[in-house]
Amino acid sequence: MTITDLHTTAEPTPTAPVTFGAPPSPGQLAHRAALTQLRNATDLLGLDEGLHQLLATPRRSLTVAVPLRRDTGTTEIYTGYRVQHNLTRGPGKGGVRFHPASDIEEVTALAMWMTWKCALLGLPYGGAKGGIAVDTSVLSMAEKERLTRRYTQEILPFIGPDKDIPAPDVNTDETTMAWMMDTYSVSAGYSVHGATTGKPLAVGGSNGRAGATSRGVVLAALEAMRQKGIDPVGAAVAIQGFGKVGAHAAQFFADEGCRVVAVSDVTGGCYRESGLEIAAIQEWVGRGRTLDTYDGADQISNAELFALDVDVLVPAAMDGVLTGQNADTVRARLIVEGANGPTSPDADTIFAGKGITVVPDILANAGGVVVSYLEWVQNLQAFSWSSEEVNRKLVTLMRTASRSVWALAGDKRIPLRLAAHVLGVGKVAEAHRVRGLYP
Ligand code: NAD
Repeated sequence: MTITDLHTTAEPTPTAPVTFGAPPSPGQLAHRAALTQLRNATDLLGLDEGLHQLLATPRRSLTVAVPLRRDTGTTEIYTGYRVQHNLTRGPGKGGVRFHPASDIEEVTALAMWMTWKCALLGLPYGGAKGGIAVDTSVLSMAEKERLTRRYTQEILPFIGPDKDIPAPDVNTDETTMAWMMDTYSVSAGYSVHGATTGKPLAVGGSNGRAGATSRGVVLAALEAMRQKGIDPVGAAVAIQGFGKVGAHAAQFFADEGCRVVAVSDVTGGCYRESGLEIAAIQEWVGRGRTLDTYDGADQISNAELFALDVDVLVPAAMDGVLTGQNADTVRARLIVEGANGPTSPDADTIFAGKGITVVPDILANAGGVVVSYLEWVQNLQAFSWSSEEVNRKLVTLMRTASRSVWALAGDKRIPLRLAAHVLGVGKVAEAHRVRGLYP
């Protein structure tokens, strides 16, 4: 199948499940959004219903009990997940999230987005994701380590460098990945560097991994600004989420000459029209403080941040934050999705009506998995590349994907999200076609 075979007259036909009674959970909404986006792509690609269902259904979904002995001596049981959505193009790849709202539906949606993202970027991976429903803010470091190691042990038969390679996501980091890699290695009886990515440099981490997602976000934003005729120098940028993605992105935007006027975390945000001092805010947060107490700028709420009159809005926190309820308040010219799944399908429709361009997650935040891939390749070869080498490869892969998405969107007059999905889903469908169906 080629891109010229696209069925450009197809109407979207969402198949997301409908529930009655209780309002849908954030995870259910994320799963519905992912299924709607897939349906839009498979309709346009003209895939048959059987293949559509194959692509809509996770290959393996694992739910595990994770008992944790607290420091006080009591035992608590948490629920963990690992979903391998698709393994047709290679091993599963995707982060592990520790969040109270984590559930099987959210993890499934995140795994599905990983499948299309890896395919879009041409990485030899399927898509996977993991999570534990837990509030890590109440855990000590030792408790977090025991929780991570027990979770790893429970999913151990399903992961590994040739099977499924976890990486950091919300509330997990390089230390979490070192514990997971160590747990895996202890079980194997030797060091398996390629078992996880996003690790510390001391155990096979890659130069350039820490800032990779954010570097990719800024590259995607710069390309979008170029396409829209926005001069990056002096362009106003607002970023929701000041974690691994948001904090680095803020600095990289500032390095490009942009005015980062607002940043926020879960507690609230800060604003300065002339541009914030990112290094000062990073230092503030680095000392364990939150943005609602930052005294170097005006305070704003997350809702106010979304409504700012800026050139670029970067949601870099959680999924489902831009919805039919608040999309009308957004005044940005561009939305560049650092987070996975921040925009609901009805918000997408509203943004299209307002002429707001959305650079979708599976393109905009792909820099993380690109450098995770480079880390895994280095681990498999027992080799190490310099930051310059890694960044050069990152730029090449991001630019190639970005240009193909913009070109298809322009040719077919479709939104960037649909173009990105058509390219990613199309590659996975092609892999299914050439492999055939066993038996
Ligand atoms: P993180 O845990 O390092 O940071 C999350 C940030 O979001 C924190 O500042 C937190 O306070 C804030 N936040 C959480 N809930 C919020 C809310 N309701 N409102 C406002 N702010 C809130 O996580 P991260 O790794 O930076 O991931 C952020 C997003 O980027 C997630 O959607 C993740 O899936 C996506 N992502 C991460 C990577 C990666 O390499 N870490 C790669 C691709 C995509």
